[in-house]
Amino acid sequence: MADLYLGLDIGGTKLAVGIANAEGRVLADAAEPTDPTSRPGDVVEALYRMSQAVCAKAGVGLRDLRAVGISYGGPVDYPAGVTVTCHHLQGWENVPLVRMIAERFGLPAAMDNDANAAALAEAVFGAGRGHTHLLYLTVSSGIGGGIIIEGEIYRGATSMAGEIGHMTVKPDGPVCTCGRRGCLEAMASGWSIARRAQEAAAAWPGESALKRLAEITAQAVAQAAEAGDALALEIMRETADNLAFGIGAGVNLLNPTLVVIGGGVSQAGEVLFGPLREALGRYALKENAQAVRVAPAALGAQVGVLGGVALARSARAG
Ligand SMILES: [Zn+2]
Repeated sequence: MADLYLGLDIGGTKLAVGIANAEGRVLADAAEPTDPTSRPGDVVEALYRMSQAVCAKAGVGLRDLRAVGISYGGPVDYPAGVTVTCHHLQGWENVPLVRMIAERFGLPAAMDNDANAAALAEAVFGAGRGHTHLLYLTVSSGIGGGIIIEGEIYRGATSMAGEIGHMTVKPDGPVCTCGRRGCLEAMASGWSIARRAQEAAAAWPGESALKRLAEITAQAVAQAAEAGDALALEIMRETADNLAFGIGAGVNLLNPTLVVIGGGVSQAGEVLFGPLREALGRYALKENAQAVRVAPAALGAQVGVLGGVALARSARAG
């Protein structure tokens, strides 16, 4: 039988499970809403039950799989295999999740935070195939980041590298979810787009579809921009400029050949990527800007499960 791996995705809103081969082709998968009251032991049991169902669908036994990998929606202590906390759920401080999963599933296990897992998945299965030096950003409600150097996740001394979303891009800027001011997340995430659009719409002298909306969301701004709405295009250009400021610093620091951008905001397409590429030429050194391409993520909704699978492949090798 071909080498098969199990990927587990533990997010704030969703638990997902999938089986894939070493090339990242998903044979079977399943997802359920996360129960916000469930404790770590309950989540392990839910994932085990879901994994058995997915195995049955794929026609394999759990013990036929090579390893299991966990994409976790919060910071982890990677060498210890322990969660630090969770941004969405209570009771997830210092949970030895790698040991719990390895024992319950009877498989070698590995875990990383969701942004690092997604970065690795895009590098080995997605938009980053063929690239050994890659910077990944997920731009959605928040902004997460992952760094791939020589084909491996760069984690730093305490598993906290890659936090590009909390790089300061405007010292006196708006307050971020982390409590500091002017982080990239506060200047370019989904909530930042929505907030800047609301403020701009109130002051905009001309006509704009955004002025007629009861609630302006990032998605609405992207759609209006695509339809040629001048105010929405200005918000997206400003967002792209803020992103390019942070990415430019990352590109000068790391000299990657590819920047992959995933998450809901990346679905805005060329109204975001066009001005972003143009602005990156201003914020990165010429040599670094010439060496790098900016591309949308390729794995879509499967990135969580495939992040787990990518980690599982390294668990097996390690
Ligand atoms: Zn922040």
